[in-house]
Amino acid sequence: MNSEVAGKRFRIGDAEINIIVHGFPGKSVCHGSLGFCTIVLVRRGDRLALVDVGSFGQRDLLIDQLAERGLAPKDVTDVLLTHSHYDHSVNWTLFKDANIVIGRAELEWSVKEPWGETPVPELYVRELARWPTLSAVEDGDEVFPGLTAHATPGHTPGSPVFVLDASDRDVVFTGDACKNRAELLSRATDMSYDPEVSRASIDAIWAFWTRKRGSILVPGHDFPMVQEKGEPRYLGRREAAIRAWYSEDLNETTVFSLLPDAANSARTAAE
Ligand SMILES: [Zn+2]
Repeated sequence: MNSEVAGKRFRIGDAEINIIVHGFPGKSVCHGSLGFCTIVLVRRGDRLALVDVGSFGQRDLLIDQLAERGLAPKDVTDVLLTHSHYDHSVNWTLFKDANIVIGRAELEWSVKEPWGETPVPELYVRELARWPTLSAVEDGDEVFPGLTAHATPGHTPGSPVFVLDASDRDVVFTGDACKNRAELLSRATDMSYDPEVSRASIDAIWAFWTRKRGSILVPGHDFPMVQEKGEPRYLGRREAAIRAWYSEDLNETTVFSLLPDAANSARTAAE
């Protein structure tokens, strides 16, 4: 997959934003979690941050996408984790010399989660908690030049959204405080420990997003959006597909699109 398809790149003020993996707003039906999260590269001055780093299944993709841009993992100076869940955080070990940012409340909660029962990668957060380049941050902290963390609990207790102030417009990275467009519009959430807490966080996200005209919202499991006449509009074209071996020939594969067109999707009635 070439970078023009996989990634979306835009300049906003003096920051360069590169969506190197766009999240997927769905779950598998028969095979457990998909966990396809959004991974974004943010360059400002001589600093280069990744907002979330994905899980094991995204390792090769992440390395390839960096290489396509002439970058190696060691070039990443900052890793900004929206929350501790495995699908967003596990690959921090690829950037072990970077400044690794996570909410203090998130980390303190994560290390106490029971082993084997939740999406928190127990051993990865245990190691992260004692890692020398870790920055455990508080609500309102500036965690990267012009980028601040703001508490938005609900999906997890300590997950912040990151707001990048790029002068005339902002970029709001919501992580899973707002996973997708449906959550943004309905202000209802899937996977929340308290729907009212999540709703207040989504209200806060709307406030950050609408503070300046043309600001961009980057959800944890969906495509980036801009607001146009009060409506979110996706910034670009989604790509999502699965390749399967359904024949007897290893060289022959079938590709199934995961895009919402009539041929491919059976819309389920409200459950
Ligand atoms: Zn997630």
